[in-house]
Amino acid sequence: MDTSKLPTASISPGVILMQPPKGRAEWERVYGKPDGSPAWEQEHLGFCELDDLREQVGHLYYPNGTQRLDFFATRINPKTGGRGYGFACHKLCEQAFHELFRRWAELDLLRLLRTFDGSYNFRATRGRSSSLSPHSYGMAIDLDAQWNQFGWGPDRYEMHPDVAAVAEALGFTWGGRFSYPDAMHFQYGSY
Ligand SMILES: [Zn+2]
Repeated sequence: MDTSKLPTASISPGVILMQPPKGRAEWERVYGKPDGSPAWEQEHLGFCELDDLREQVGHLYYPNGTQRLDFFATRINPKTGGRGYGFACHKLCEQAFHELFRRWAELDLLRLLRTFDGSYNFRATRGRSSSLSPHSYGMAIDLDAQWNQFGWGPDRYEMHPDVAAVAEALGFTWGGRFSYPDAMHFQYGSY
């Protein structure tokens, strides 16, 4: 791979991201073991506020039927109790996700994306009922799901390599590299 062609974005001054935890045991230690309860959500969930990137992310929408939303706020913002301009995630991932979207915006990559398909969601890993999905921790998001369906390989998924490269440079794990690809998926924590 010719690394000179990888996109590089500036680093936000003052932003020091924690290292993404490696392995499920570390996810549990760092993020806390999710149980889907309101108490867990109250203690661990935060909100990635993207109000400052409104111009660049405003075209992303939740594909919830026919209603196009001009924001992709999710069901709760634990900090305010109401909806915000962004999405719920683990509070320890707020900065990493914000920096990810800021870098995508700086490099004008967000225009390549169309839908925001979810973040925190307590559920088992697809196809593996015994282990919790990274989404259960609030450490993962899905983007452009319709064009990057679970199991689709490089011959089929449409996730732009620069979008993935910027995420990986920041420490995110991209699902397009999984043995059973999940190119819509980005998580702050590796295996
Ligand atoms: Zn996912």
